[in-house]
Amino acid sequence: MTPAVASEDPFRRVALIGVGLIGSSMARAMRRHGLAGEIVACARSESTRAKAMELGLCDTALADPAAAVADCDLVVLATPVGAYAAVAEAMQPGLARGAIVTDVGSVKQAVIRDVGPYLPDGVHFVPGHPIAGTEQSGPEAGFAELFEERYCLLTPPPGTDEWAVARVAWLWRRMGSMVDILEPGHHDMVLAITSHLPHLIAYTIVHTATGLEESTRQEAIKYSAGGFRDFTRIAASDPVMWRDVFLNNREAVLEMLQRFSEDLTALQRAIRWGEGDVLEDLFRRTREVRRGVIEQRQAGSFDPREPHAEDPADHK
Ligand code: NAP
Repeated sequence: MTPAVASEDPFRRVALIGVGLIGSSMARAMRRHGLAGEIVACARSESTRAKAMELGLCDTALADPAAAVADCDLVVLATPVGAYAAVAEAMQPGLARGAIVTDVGSVKQAVIRDVGPYLPDGVHFVPGHPIAGTEQSGPEAGFAELFEERYCLLTPPPGTDEWAVARVAWLWRRMGSMVDILEPGHHDMVLAITSHLPHLIAYTIVHTATGLEESTRQEAIKYSAGGFRDFTRIAASDPVMWRDVFLNNREAVLEMLQRFSEDLTALQRAIRWGEGDVLEDLFRRTREVRRGVIEQRQAGSFDPREPHAEDPADHK
């Protein structure tokens, strides 16, 4: 068994398949910290490739995944997860023996199912998911600090080469993340409640508001600081990325949605019957959860372009 101690050498040549928010943030962080000798960006549209070159995110920008991964020691999949199978099939002929393939997709069991079969023997697959993001998309949306003080979850299937796992963990740590290893199914269940369901709820509330009569809809936007505003930010997230998340984490999302519906019905009942103690007790307990999030320094965003992104008061 190879030792689980990672070499501290930068990757020699890295292919980023997809250079949107996450891919471009990785490019910026890898450049800033000297983690890659050469970066090859791969995007399907000419405009994204041109933008990646213009922003200095990469040394080369190519359309063909097989050409992009040729001679690379690290390949990062950073497209919406619904595109992974086609991208993996397309890059397969170019993969070098000994290369590490990793990804940033928001679901993990489906990614292992879709990508694994296309990877030849001698290529190591280390699935990953940075728990960091914004509602923006595209190469201009990224920033080097995105992953700092955020978790990156790695979900290597049993038998994954330990050295490859250690190399990917080293990369994320150098980009500022804390790294945890999770079993893929457990990852999908945890993310269903912490990320996928909140997005579904936000999409639904904003949709419900847009279905109101015109005057009420206008006022919902005008007076949105009452709470609605925070949902509109989440509901502005990329439609394709989130379509793919729900289609590829169906079981876990439906399970969490069922539990949520039951809890919502219980609250509905408490309101109907004037059970103030039930409401107050629950709201007190949820307030404690917020304290825990703040104590773990996972509140707010670190986007340096947002002046009030990380409220310092949260860290008191
Ligand atoms: P994004 O900003 O929309 O960028 C997507 C990139 O993938 C673009 O370069 C795009 O190229 C390319 N792409 C899209 N569809 C493709 C297809 N069918 N075939 C080939 N390339 C395609 O997306 P993102 O927010 O960076 O998300 C990328 C991945 O990160 C997703 O798997 C997502 O689940 C995961 N993730 C996202 C967040 C977040 O908050 N956004 C957080 C953690 C993980 P073109 O521009 O040429 O179309």
